[in-house]
Formats: sequence, structure tokens, C-alpha cells
Amino acid sequence: STPSSAATATAPDLSPCTIMGAGLVGSLLALYLARRGHVVDVYERRADPRLSGAVEGRSINLALSDRGWRALEGVGISEQVREVAIPMYRRVMHDQQGRLTHQPYGRENQAIYSVSRGGLNRTLLNLTEADPRIRMHFNEHCQHVDLRARRLEMHNTLTDQEQTLPFRRLFGADGAYSAVRGAMQKTDRYEFSQSYLEYGYKELTIEAGPNGEWQLEKNALHIWPRGQYMMIALPNLDGSFNCTLFFPYEGQESFTALETPTQVAAFFQERFPDAMPFMPDLVEEFIQNPTGSLITVRCFPWTHKDEVVLLGDASHAIVPFYGQGMNSGFEDCSVLDALLNQYGEDWHTVFSEFQRQRKPNADAMADLAIYNFEEMRDRVANPRFLLQKKIESK
Ligand code: FAD
Repeated sequence: STPSSAATATAPDLSPCTIMGAGLVGSLLALYLARRGHVVDVYERRADPRLSGAVEGRSINLALSDRGWRALEGVGISEQVREVAIPMYRRVMHDQQGRLTHQPYGRENQAIYSVSRGGLNRTLLNLTEADPRIRMHFNEHCQHVDLRARRLEMHNTLTDQEQTLPFRRLFGADGAYSAVRGAMQKTDRYEFSQSYLEYGYKELTIEAGPNGEWQLEKNALHIWPRGQYMMIALPNLDGSFNCTLFFPYEGQESFTALETPTQVAAFFQERFPDAMPFMPDLVEEFIQNPTGSLITVRCFPWTHKDEVVLLGDASHAIVPFYGQGMNSGFEDCSVLDALLNQYGEDWHTVFSEFQRQRKPNADAMADLAIYNFEEMRDRVANPRFLLQKKIESK
């Protein structure tokens, strides 16, 4: 019989689901599975971000695009998110003399959207809390996954207690350094690679003006392309911009070369003179904020029997230059849901179709993301490329 007729002949397998990781992908996945009738347990090593009491620092924002929106629509929350999202209709490039050039992202009202990572995560967590089928477990760090015995070794970071928990079906949404994938990597003929760019990134801030106004064009993604490196800025609702400097670790112009406050200030004054006046905390932020690394992870298979599956960065962490990491992780959730609609809870078929469909997409995205770094830091500033774009957009 076909998988779908087999599924309709028997009652759907609504055995409990365990999700590792309550980041963006894990919390969206919990909503999708619960709406299908599953009881879902979500384990997250961090504290509940809504209760931690810490005053949130600067908003870190992400570009949300079409594939992400469609996945949010699938659980009926796109309108809620749209209210706090800022459309960015075009790229605005800043050259070293502060001259601006523009490139539209699409036609007329087409845009990508700037959304706060923390705000989006909190919205998703509030929704998971409202669903009685979802049980959230914060401060639970997964130390080891025993695939054969289907058991998780957990450590509670608040109580310092260890416990072993059984699972029936496990969804690894625990990010680029996934513990679930770590267990799969030890199975026979498992394909895995990770590579780092020789660039890191630093989050910085362009402040709001004295009356809370945006000091650069609000509805745009700003880029300062400088050949071997670049800075970008995305707008926040409070009038500020979240900037990210993508910069080499080593070399003449690099993180290691900028050691003192004087060096940092002189470098920004020379390279980003039009942004510098709006960055009063620049030197302090540059020195205090951590330097993040940029990893690409590829692996296969993404599933183990009909028992374990990886989603989001756990199976396909990519560098951020295409703005598609979260978006494609969200799409993982909507594709998995569509396959469950198609095949019923025939997990074996659903899992194998899922990885068959998604793996080539993820590989293409990883390559495009690296390619787009070259385009953004260098080619967008090249007059020949601008002319080419102009011709293409006609
Ligand atoms: P994560 O967000 O990493 O969440 C994983 C969760 O699992 C975390 O909460 C973690 O605490 C938890 N966890 C990890 N290990 C364990 C364990 N052992 N036990 C229990 N819990 C665990 N994407 C876009 O689409 N658009 C953008 O504009 C964009 N910009 C980016 C900019 C930067 C600088 C970076 C670094 C990334 C950017 N991304 C962007 C990518 C995006 O951030 C990721 O793709 C997305 O966060 C992946 O979500 P996730 O839920 O799979 O993983």
C-alpha cells in the first residue's frame, strides 16, 4: 500500500514529542506539533527569557523574508509579528565619503522585514505557554543523547540535579552545536563538516535622534561595503539601528589590530565617517561586546530511524549574509507539517521525505550565503555591478 493509505488505515501515531531547544525554530515547531494533537515537551538549557528579570540590552534584529512569513502564517501569528516588524524596501550603500546609492529588493512594495530576535522568541514562547499540550522545561541542559536506549541525560542548571529521561520521538532544534546531532555523528557512516570564516562579527549601535527619530533612512538595510569587510545596520522600532561589523580576525585591518580605544575611534572615523557621529557608545561597545564567529555546518542524514530528526541550525547552520538561517529553519517546520498532512503520522515516510526535500535546499543556501558575503562587502560598491543591477531590474 502507499504510505498515505497505510496512514489512513491506522490511527495516527500521536505519541509524545520531545523537542531539544526553545530557540526560534524549537518554539515554532512546538506550536506546529501541538496543533496536530501531540503532547510536546520542550527542553531548553537557558532560563526563560521572559522571566530572567534582566533588562534586555539592545535589540538584536534579524531579516525576516517570505519563507519565514509563510511558516508563521501556518500557525496564525504572522499578523501579530507584522505589527512589530519594519519593512526594508531597499539596500542603501554608504561609501567612504558618505555618498549613498540604492538598490531596491524587489518591485513596488516587496520588502524584507527587520524584527527583534528577543521579541520574536518571546512572542513564540507566549503562544507555547497558552497551549496546554506544550510543556516547557527551562534550565535543562542536555548532556548526552543515548540513541539506542532512547534516553536523554539532562542537567538542571538551577538545582544542579541530573536526570535521565526517556523519549519516543526527538526533534533536535538545539542549534549549530547540537547535542542531538552530536550523538548522531557517532553513528556509522555519518557525514559531517563544519567550517569557520576567517571573519568574526561585532554588534554595535546607531542611536535614535534626540526626539526618538531614525538618523538614517528607516525603511532600508544599510551597508557600508569596504572591500574585505563591511558593516550593516537594520532599523529598530525605538529609532535606533542594530549594526553588525563583519571583520577579519587577523591582518592589517582586523580585530587583532584594533586593541586600544584610540585605535578603534580612529579606524571608524576614517572608514565609517558618516555613521560615527550617531555611535556615541562605539568604543565601549566595541571593547565590551563579544566577537562572534561565523560557522557553516553540513551533515547527513538528518534523521535516525523514525525516532530522531534535526531542524534549523542543528542540521544546517549557515553564515548570515543571505539573511536566511532563521527563515529556512522556520520553513523546516512548515515543510514537516505539510508532510504530516500528506502522509499522516507515518513518521518513517515523513522523516525520509523531509530530509530528501530539504537537504539540497540547505546546501544551496549555505553556498549562496558565502557568495553573498563577497557581493555585499565588495561587489555592491563596484560601479560595474551597480550598472549591471540597473539593467537587470529593468
Ligand atoms: P538557535 O537560535 O541557536 O536556538 C537553539 C536553542 O537550543 C537555544 O535556545 C539554545 O540555548 C538551545 N540549546 C543548545 N544546546 C542545548 C542543549 N545541549 N540542551 C538544551 N538546550 C540547548 N537568520 C535569518 O533568517 N535572518 C537574519 O537576518 C539573520 N541574521 C543573523 C545574524 C547573525 C550575526 C547570526 C550569527 C545569525 C543570523 N541569522 C539570521 C541566523 C539565525 O540566527 C539562526 O539561523 C537561527 O537562530 C536558528 O534558530 P535555531 O532555533 O535553529 O537555533
